[in-house]
Amino acid sequence: MRVGVLKGNGIGPEITSAVLQVLEATGLPLEWVHIPIADEAVERYGHPLPRQVVDALREVKVALKAPLIVNKGEGRLSCVQEDGSEVTYPSLNNAIRRELKLFVNPRPLRGIPGISGRYENLDVVVMREVTEDVYVGWEHRIGDVAAQAIKLTTREAAVRVARYSFDYARRNGRRKVSCLHKANVLNYTDGLFLRCCAEVAREYPDIEFDDYMIDAACYLIIKEPQRFDVVVTPNQYGDILSDLGAGLVGSLGLAPGANIGEVASVFEASHGAAPDIAGKGIANPVALLLSGALLLQHAGHGREAASVVRATRAVLGEGKVLTRDLGGTANTLALAGAIADRVRASDPDRSSA
Ligand code: NAD
Repeated sequence: MRVGVLKGNGIGPEITSAVLQVLEATGLPLEWVHIPIADEAVERYGHPLPRQVVDALREVKVALKAPLIVNKGEGRLSCVQEDGSEVTYPSLNNAIRRELKLFVNPRPLRGIPGISGRYENLDVVVMREVTEDVYVGWEHRIGDVAAQAIKLTTREAAVRVARYSFDYARRNGRRKVSCLHKANVLNYTDGLFLRCCAEVAREYPDIEFDDYMIDAACYLIIKEPQRFDVVVTPNQYGDILSDLGAGLVGSLGLAPGANIGEVASVFEASHGAAPDIAGKGIANPVALLLSGALLLQHAGHGREAASVVRATRAVLGEGKVLTRDLGGTANTLALAGAIADRVRASDPDRSSA
């Protein structure tokens, strides 16, 4: 099975090598296809996301992507299209999603006994729409006195993410989908998003549907997290809510994610490149590892995906090998190694090998 690997920068390279070692412990015949991105792609092709990289991602179909540093106020990137025209994106991460037409960013938030305190039963999947909203990057300056950004919502994108959320709920035995929005203020944009979700909900009478204002939802997910199951939301709210949820689980280092498209899908942690701890070997590899488990599941290897998740939760729950973000002293490789050993031990053929 060929899997693209984008090792990113900041803590990216160190967590990537740790994660590959755990995924290899499943015994699956995985072939890592290294795909250059950012600085490495600039060196090789003269552009951080050249056509060759987009084509390589389309060709492998699934890729594990580590985080990338995007400097504040200077992330904009122009990509040449197949017809020679150029499209400008607000950041490299945004460009990857949109060049590959990745339309939904599922971010599961699942508490871990022994780690997540009063949120150990938290079990919410954030379905973040990732092609539109203010993150289309249609901004302009009005001299130095003002700047404007456009918030885009289309029926097509809202219906697509809503349908994906309901299908996901049905496939995974989930009871409810909640739409999170601010349609009381953003009457037209979020109003359309909410209306599309409500329309799609009628096609799924077996799944409950409700909606909340995003500000109230932030309050309620802290006070009464059991209210939420699958939540579907525009791009920016989903981005923010999923980091908030990672805080409830216990660390950004525990929050995995996926970017699903029709041609290719890219699996990445919710967190960024953590420049404050990069190069020290102390980052938590679990968010990227659980993203790898989502990749295995997506590629039809549910048994191996479940084995990685079980091993991760068991090692974390024991509390003996924890990285610093979780109050421990273990380094990245020690935590990954403990999880890899547990994965191998769960397979009798491999533990005796
Ligand atoms: P961040 O998520 O990188 O870090 C926030 C805090 O969480 C930091 O204190 C960091 O040390 C900690 N943290 C994050 N991941 C961790 C891990 N695995 N283990 C332990 N601690 C971890 O957010 P930021 O500081 O706002 O952003 C840093 C850079 O990452 C920026 O350039 C930003 O643009 C970029 N970023 C990239 C992505 C992506 O590639 N998908 C996502 C978000 C941010």
